[in-house]
Amino acid sequence: MKKITIAIDGHSSCGKSTMAKDLAREIGYIYIDSGAMYRCCTLFCLQQGLINADGTIQADELERRMSEIHVSFQLNTETGRPDAYLNGICVERDIRTMEVSSHVSPVAALPFVRAAMTAQQQAMGREGGIVMDGRDIGTAVFPHAELKIFVTASDEIRAQRRYDELVVKGEHPDFNAVLENLRERDRIDSTRAVAPLRQAPDALVLDNSHLTIPEQKQWLIERFKEKTLPPTPPL
Ligand code: C5P
Repeated sequence: MKKITIAIDGHSSCGKSTMAKDLAREIGYIYIDSGAMYRCCTLFCLQQGLINADGTIQADELERRMSEIHVSFQLNTETGRPDAYLNGICVERDIRTMEVSSHVSPVAALPFVRAAMTAQQQAMGREGGIVMDGRDIGTAVFPHAELKIFVTASDEIRAQRRYDELVVKGEHPDFNAVLENLRERDRIDSTRAVAPLRQAPDALVLDNSHLTIPEQKQWLIERFKEKTLPPTPPL
């Protein structure tokens, strides 16, 4: 059976990654978390002092040093999910902090950062058989993806999910700060000049505000089957 390309886009913290990872595992496809790649670029900026105290980015210096950023993924055999590596070091935990979350959208809005990450993402998906989640996968990275999903959920529900995730990781976030952060990221992601967050015209919309994870998984597998299984001949 031909392997297709699956693009899952949507707002911050709406559970895209969980859905995408589960689907990829179930159907034996590669899973790529494109947000992790932008988070790695942001971590690099923080480590190298390229973000000023007022939050502005030293964009010229970052552009000069983009070739020093190498992002890769390796399967974590304990979790069964891929971990992100920045220049050969596992940074899966470090890229999920509130500090990285609060700087990532301005970094991801820089056209040269997007160009570099988009080229890597397209190379990763050249053979098909990939599930990639992000903000511009169905519109800019793989505009010809056979299956495109646009996921959303209410702001409060998304903030609660993100808050719970951070607590499990041992952080002590403020709920309102988490809510503000995701609203601000959505605002920057939707209004940037290059590849803004948009629903592709041919995307299927999933509002998962009131769906459980198994329900979402089931919904997604049904959409995948519709695209890949031959239609049943009439009796
Ligand atoms: O998906 P996640 O929330 O981890 O993504 C972090 C940030 O990376 C987003 O808020 C967005 O600014 C940026 N991003 C992007 N394009 C993508 C994926 C993520 O601009 N395809």
